[in-house]
Amino acid sequence: MGKNFTDRDGFIWFNGKFVPWREAKTHIITQGLHYGSAVFEGERAYNGIIFKSKEHTDRLFNSAEIVGMEIPYSKEEVNSAKNELLVKMNFKSCYIRPLVWRGGEQMGISTTKSDINVSISAWEDWTSYFKMEDRLAGIKLITSPWKRPAPDSSPYEAKSSGVYVICTMSKEFAEKKGFHDALMLDHRNFVAEGTGANIFFIKGKKIDTPIPDCFLNGITRQAVIQMLKKQGFEINERYIKPEEIKNYDEAFLTGTAAEVTPIRSIDDKKFLVGEDTTTFKLLNDFSDLVNSSL
Ligand code: PMP
Repeated sequence: MGKNFTDRDGFIWFNGKFVPWREAKTHIITQGLHYGSAVFEGERAYNGIIFKSKEHTDRLFNSAEIVGMEIPYSKEEVNSAKNELLVKMNFKSCYIRPLVWRGGEQMGISTTKSDINVSISAWEDWTSYFKMEDRLAGIKLITSPWKRPAPDSSPYEAKSSGVYVICTMSKEFAEKKGFHDALMLDHRNFVAEGTGANIFFIKGKKIDTPIPDCFLNGITRQAVIQMLKKQGFEINERYIKPEEIKNYDEAFLTGTAAEVTPIRSIDDKKFLVGEDTTTFKLLNDFSDLVNSSL
């Protein structure tokens, strides 16, 4: 594949049915497209098994509930649809994108008459959010001018499409300046996360990561914390000021698409990267974990 997302073979699960990929369309007059009323998931299958599939479905339903949408299917239906889709697409390792959005005859901010649509698509060509060679060399981050809003200004626990506009603006800001991604601070100016991944910092056997009280507590983040604790690391969830970043030896991002991605630098601060680092070992341990999970 690796081509235009609208012109592919295969199927998309669309409102309860598998439809040919090219026919999975919605009209441009769609509430979700105009006002950002949509929530989604990003999941990955490894060797035919979706990593933390149940947790992703739970988060999808929670996201929908937070933004006031009732998904007209059960969690079991969504879980089976994801698995059936992999079989129909003949995919073993791929990215999976469930999406829930408001549509229907009503146009405007009011949603009293809108209907709720659900689709699930999968593709193989997002093997990683960052290229493997960039991940191994470590990625370069720049601090974004855009901040993660306060929890009473944004539905931060929902993976809600509208909120992603600041991520896209931050990513574009970084890429235009020759960086791979942006570091986002929060409304209090504490370190928050990347544009689509959580962040960790290492100093010896101690690992610090920001408290997810205004950004997504990633499913990968939680799995990595569990793995690191088992390995004997001390994990501290704490508020991290940008001026503290210089004190750390290593840093990395975690996310479904990013997996474990070493960070080479944030602004002027350089981190250790390469085969001798804790992060490099973690990248491999995470790969073993996802490839062995049942
Ligand atoms: N933060 C943001 C903004 C994200 O988009 C993602 C990716 N879903 C994450 C963190 C990491 O979440 P997860 O590990 O569940 O993919």
